[in-house]
Amino acid sequence: MKKLALIIPCYNEEMVIAEAYRRTKAVLDTIQNPTEIIFINDGSRDKTRELLEEIAKKDAEVKVIHFSRNFGHQPAVTAGIHHCDADLAIILDADMQDPPELIPDILALQEQEEANVVYCVRKSRAGESRFKLLTAKMFYRTMNSMSEVDFPLDTGDFRLIDRKVMDEFDRLKEKGKYIRGLISWVGFKQVPFYYEREARIAGETKYPLSKMFSFASNALLYFSKRPLKLALGLGFVAVVVGIILAVWFTLGKIYGFSNAESGWTSIMFTIIFFGGVQLITVGVLGTYIGILFDEIKARPEYIVDEKRNFNE
Ligand code: UDP
Ligand code: MG
Repeated sequence: MKKLALIIPCYNEEMVIAEAYRRTKAVLDTIQNPTEIIFINDGSRDKTRELLEEIAKKDAEVKVIHFSRNFGHQPAVTAGIHHCDADLAIILDADMQDPPELIPDILALQEQEEANVVYCVRKSRAGESRFKLLTAKMFYRTMNSMSEVDFPLDTGDFRLIDRKVMDEFDRLKEKGKYIRGLISWVGFKQVPFYYEREARIAGETKYPLSKMFSFASNALLYFSKRPLKLALGLGFVAVVVGIILAVWFTLGKIYGFSNAESGWTSIMFTIIFFGGVQLITVGVLGTYIGILFDEIKARPEYIVDEKRNFNE
């Protein structure tokens, strides 16, 4: 019988922890496989830590990792995978947007297809703002057109991965992990599972606009060199425009059809346009250098404060 682990990152989730534990436990009780739940407390500042401690004390199948501070959603899931020794793992959100009641169906599909990954695709998303829906839609489509790997559309980190995938994942050294992308990138047999994403049961999103933006730009920068090529393309366009302008003004001067002396407008245009192109290009370059800087420092992705029920 394959052992199944659930990986659940939590950041300031005191409003949902108890209910999340109750619902997932109820589902796990109906499954024959041996199971465990790995909660990662991503440096919460509310009662999340105490609540998880209480649960871990009563239930030996609940493992808890406390981070030393808030490192972010992706590092939390990464820690869950690193600390998982089960044969299968399912990553889900603490807010129950990914209903644990689907776990038996996901397991059945994995077995039937002998899949290494079952990624859950959102047919619909309840309780999300129109802005989030639109930006998410744009994001997944842009990612696909920009990156060298093909990603399935409209999938989050809610997915089942098997030991093979976890072992490969453990070998990835990059610090800025875009997990859903990396799991696609790893390959093996990956099959979709369609579901309706529910609304958060309580509390509010831990992904404010600023985090959403850095998540999206990280994903793009780590998976695509296209922005660099776009910058290069922009440079070429600027050069061509410059040459055309130069020829036009020279001919104008010779044949007298352009009043180049009063050329304040054209000079200003040229300076601003080329200045802009240069800044954009340097900016794109700088962003990639920033990533190299972070990667080269090779700091750990997360720091563990305490662990519960890992009996090592
Ligand atoms: N999360 C986390 N660290 C963070 C932000 C979020 O561990 O810095 C967790 C959060 O507790 C939740 C999951 O990641 O279990 C997804 O976050 P959320 O539901 O707020 O995102 P949304 O569903 O609104 O995109
Ligand atoms: Mg959520």
